[in-house]
Amino acid sequence: MGAGPAALCIVAELVERGIAVTALASHTPDQPWPNTYGIWAEELESLGMASLLAHRWTNTVSYFGDGLNNEGQRAIKHNFDYGLFDQDALQKSLLSRCKELSWNVETAQKIEVHGAETEVICCSGNSYLARVVIDASGHRSRFIKRPNHGPVAEQAAYGVVGRFTSPPVEDGQFVLMDFRPDHLSDHEKKQPPSFLYAMDFGEGVFFVEETSLACYPPYSSEKLKERLISRLSHRGVAIKEVLHEEHCLFPMNLPLPDRDQSILAFGGAASMVHPASGYMVGALLRRAPALANQLALALAAEPSLDSKEIAQAGWKVLWSSELVQRHRLYQFGLKRLMSFDESLLRSFFATFFRLPKKEWSGFLANTLPLPNLLIVMLRLFMISPWKVRRGMALGAPRS
Ligand SMILES: Cc1cc2nc3c(=O)[nH]c(=O)nc-3n(C[C@H](O)[C@H](O)[C@H](O)COP(=O)(O)OP(=O)(O)OC[C@H]3O[C@@H](n4cnc5c(N)ncnc54)[C@H](O)[C@@H]3O)c2cc1C
Repeated sequence: MGAGPAALCIVAELVERGIAVTALASHTPDQPWPNTYGIWAEELESLGMASLLAHRWTNTVSYFGDGLNNEGQRAIKHNFDYGLFDQDALQKSLLSRCKELSWNVETAQKIEVHGAETEVICCSGNSYLARVVIDASGHRSRFIKRPNHGPVAEQAAYGVVGRFTSPPVEDGQFVLMDFRPDHLSDHEKKQPPSFLYAMDFGEGVFFVEETSLACYPPYSSEKLKERLISRLSHRGVAIKEVLHEEHCLFPMNLPLPDRDQSILAFGGAASMVHPASGYMVGALLRRAPALANQLALALAAEPSLDSKEIAQAGWKVLWSSELVQRHRLYQFGLKRLMSFDESLLRSFFATFFRLPKKEWSGFLANTLPLPNLLIVMLRLFMISPWKVRRGMALGAPRS
């Protein structure tokens, strides 16, 4: 169910293993996706898919001011290439792997599990039977059960692809996070922090996006637009022409799904967004093959397994105990960061990017095995200024 990146990734892997798939989604799978997806180039290189990038930047930087005082303007150079997917190429490459599969344009309304089979009942009145259903309908799936841990923090962003009165970032530059606070009033500094994510597309076109990492309640698009314009105008930059607007809102610390349910999920519906960064596409590409292998085995098992048993075999691989432990650490870290004010957060990130590149990039991609992740988190703690250490250990309630 679904035709976003998660659905296409898992369907491609299943079809390649000769598994009979019935795909259904609210729109045709070739309809352009509404979001632009970014990724560190190395993540794609390791999958042999770097040719799917439409843009690639070598000049990648962040600005965090100078630790706990606001004056520094120095760029931290990441020395690590970042890219934006060519959406069309990614979509087409995944669809080409789905071979002749025809998609049913249907919206699922209800799912009923009847032992050996599961029935998906659609708004049209049509229903479909499957041995197991994979819900890839996104972060707001109604079908996947998960515990209620209270309010869910969301990443929110307002962005503009456009032309500007003067360049908002340097020529050929990609800015992962510009947290410089010099344009903020004292009152604004007490509000949840937001940062600029920006890049040069060439030929006078730039993308600038004001982003709040994770916040409950989330910032509204209007508020982020106001913050973006104020940030730009402080640097003497104004928007001349809007070519495209991006409104972004998705959950960052959605609890993990119950792993004993009879429906499987993949992507946003399976809480696969990285709780520390909001990225997911690399994880989809990396984790789909193992899930498809496990499903191929479960579907071929004798005596045959029922829907619940197949789904559970899938959950065990998708959220192995190692991945669950790592996810818990990331969620713990995010909770701490959400308590930091802008000054502490700048200090935290300035320290984070002093870690060796292999460590911070592995942390952000979620590719570090659990013991290494623990060591990196411990190292980060050790090299942090004492105020950040205290915040990491105890939280830092905002005044
Ligand atoms: C604006 C934005 C920018 C992002 N940028 C990045 C980024 O740069 N890098 C990154 O890695 N991640 C990014 N993310 C996070 C994440 O990768 C995306 O949210 C991603 O689109 C989630 O993929 P998905 O396939 O799980 O869900 P979606 O992309 O939301 O797709 C869900 C699919 O399910 C279908 N559907 C929904 N309900 C039903 C139903 N009842 N029946 C049938 N079909 C249904 C929809 O039509 C759609 O096809 C971003 C998210 C947003 C919102």
